[in-house]
Amino acid sequence: MLFVPWQFITDWTCDSCGICCRQYSVVLNFQEWLRITKTYGIELTASDLDKLYIKRKNDGTCSFLCDFANPSLCGLQHMKPQACKLWPFKVLGTPKYGYAQEAAYNYCGKTLFVYADSNCRGVKYGKPSWVFANFTVKEFTEVALGSNSCQIKSTANLNSNPRNPFRF
Ligand code: SF4
Ligand code: SF4
Repeated sequence: MLFVPWQFITDWTCDSCGICCRQYSVVLNFQEWLRITKTYGIELTASDLDKLYIKRKNDGTCSFLCDFANPSLCGLQHMKPQACKLWPFKVLGTPKYGYAQEAAYNYCGKTLFVYADSNCRGVKYGKPSWVFANFTVKEFTEVALGSNSCQIKSTANLNSNPRNPFRF
């Protein structure tokens, strides 16, 4: 996987393709694990020596994915783990994946480094649009810092997907 600095991205929108819910393991923090096990049972979680996860089905798909082929919808919206809220972006305190200047993002006077995983097909490359720079990246940053959990720009816009069965 390749991590692209946010300044190489013109926009990002999730089209609910579900690739991320099929290809990656979701790491949970302890509070998230507690909430999920209390509501759905421990059977839908997994663990190894030092990490807690959402259990994946035999085909690798997240146990909570409601798959309508396209769109693929998350069945855990009301308690979506932080890792899923942030995907495909990473907001870091150091420029871990290089291109420090292009990844730098000023948030309230603090310099952070923002990258997106190129495996997400919602990433569109080019010069950052005003909305992407001022709303989308800001919202992902606030979700990462825990100062905002409400997602408007940083989640799927299901109404824009013509194949969404719940479109209005
Ligand atoms: S975040 Fe990206 S990979 Fe995941 S469902 Fe949306 S478009 Fe697909
Ligand atoms: S919890 Fe939801 S968003 Fe996260 S991997 Fe599972 S279905 Fe996808």
